Amino acid sequence: MSQGIISAAYLIAAVLFIFSLAGLSKQETAKQGNICGVAGMAIALIATILKPETLGMGWILVAMITGGGIGVYLARRVEMTEMPELVAVLHSFVGLAAVLVGFNSFIDLHPETVGSVSDAIKQISHSGAEYNIHLVEVYLGIFIGAVTFTGSIVAFGKLRGVINSKALMLPHRHKLNLLALVLSTGLLIHFVGSHASITTLVIMAVIAGIFGWHLVASIGGADMPVVVSMLNSYSGWAAAAAGFMLSNDLLIIVGALVGSSGAILSYIMCKAMNRSFVSVIAGGFGTDVQQSSSDEEQGEHRETSADDVADMLKNSRSVIITPGYGMAVAQAQYPVAEITQKLRDKGIKVRFGIHPVAGRLPGHMNVLLAEAKVPYDIVLEMDEINDDFSDTDTVLVIGANDTVNPAALDDPNSPIAGMPVLEVWNAENVVVFKRSMNTGYAGVQNPLFFKENTQMLFGDAKASVENILRAL
Ligand code: NDP
Repeated sequence: MSQGIISAAYLIAAVLFIFSLAGLSKQETAKQGNICGVAGMAIALIATILKPETLGMGWILVAMITGGGIGVYLARRVEMTEMPELVAVLHSFVGLAAVLVGFNSFIDLHPETVGSVSDAIKQISHSGAEYNIHLVEVYLGIFIGAVTFTGSIVAFGKLRGVINSKALMLPHRHKLNLLALVLSTGLLIHFVGSHASITTLVIMAVIAGIFGWHLVASIGGADMPVVVSMLNSYSGWAAAAAGFMLSNDLLIIVGALVGSSGAILSYIMCKAMNRSFVSVIAGGFGTDVQQSSSDEEQGEHRETSADDVADMLKNSRSVIITPGYGMAVAQAQYPVAEITQKLRDKGIKVRFGIHPVAGRLPGHMNVLLAEAKVPYDIVLEMDEINDDFSDTDTVLVIGANDTVNPAALDDPNSPIAGMPVLEVWNAENVVVFKRSMNTGYAGVQNPLFFKENTQMLFGDAKASVENILRAL
């Protein structure tokens, strides 16, 4: 394939990726966005494989079939609730790829480092601006890749529950982060200025790996969604760095698109959660609060039954449903949609209040409700509905916990202090659907459960909603 056709294909792919991002920003156009993304990637892959300088077609095919097979298998198997974990693992692959590409680029330039002094070495100039720029690309690519790799592994562990989701508070942790940055910068100067050796790269990769691990380990609880989108952004920059090393313009464009859109999403989520963007990316800077909230119960709670909740709903004029992670685990969105329809048929006003970090991935609740065909116009964001709870007869909190926790507003020492929450307790009656008095993701008990106007409906959310549906 000629260079002109390849450039045209890359341009078309880049435009398709931009359309894809634009489409994915709204539920109504998300499907088209996805199709544009798939088409762009297919064009990009075909053009890259057919480039005249592409060698080792057999290996490429083996890698594509193996990778594609694993991808299809995982995509078919993964539960919606496991998506953030899958995304974290995929980010770690991008990070690892950037590290490997970096080492490969360096070895290409310095074959003597692996003991094979070939003719190539004679042809490569080891000085001049271009050479130094390439060294900086290699160094930064490996640095960003290593941070993304270990950070994503820690994020995966926290989301999977194999690593404690609470923030790791090492003494002098900000100084440790600073030390890692200073050391890495010093090594960069040494690497480019006087001694471009593979040993320097290995030392830096180890430091960057520890830095990435610590950066994510120090962020915990309810701040995790921001970490996931931040790692998404890092993986984009890692891909862009790999694009520079491989002189692949499309990879640079795609990396920059992913990097900047991930950073914008993190910024939006930080704003929604009242967190400082800089503090989150710097590993929880400024979160040195004395954490007083525990997971101990804070008084007496009252239990209710499905029949009583059905009666309460029949006597309500206005109902708000605030879903959370538990609705996703129970897959309760379908009976929830049926209850909604039934109540609306009876002339009762039903709306949904969606917290920006409800569930385990941005937009999680919106996706589930759209899947169950709940009309978009009754699904409202937290800011749009928070003032309406005081005029509401009944709130159904279905599998949500941290996102409806009043401690976020009342307890300055809580790990979730300052995060805006759905103020469901202002309604006349609140029914909380969950299986036990266990805490939510942030690991703190919820004073809502012990309020006068709150009743607990224990059991799997899907079974509870179906019981109410029958009683209605
Ligand atoms: P939470 O994680 O705070 O709470 C979910 C509740 O659901 C639990 O208390 C659990 O209680 C209950 N539950 C679990 N399974 C079931 C079931 N089968 N039936 C009924 N109830 C069930 O959920 P929220 O959505 O309120 O908050 C999300 C949290 O996750 C926030 O802290 C957020 O920061 C964090 N997070 C969000 C991400 C995002 O992008 N949205 C990504 C990563 C983390 P019980 O065990 O008693 O049933």
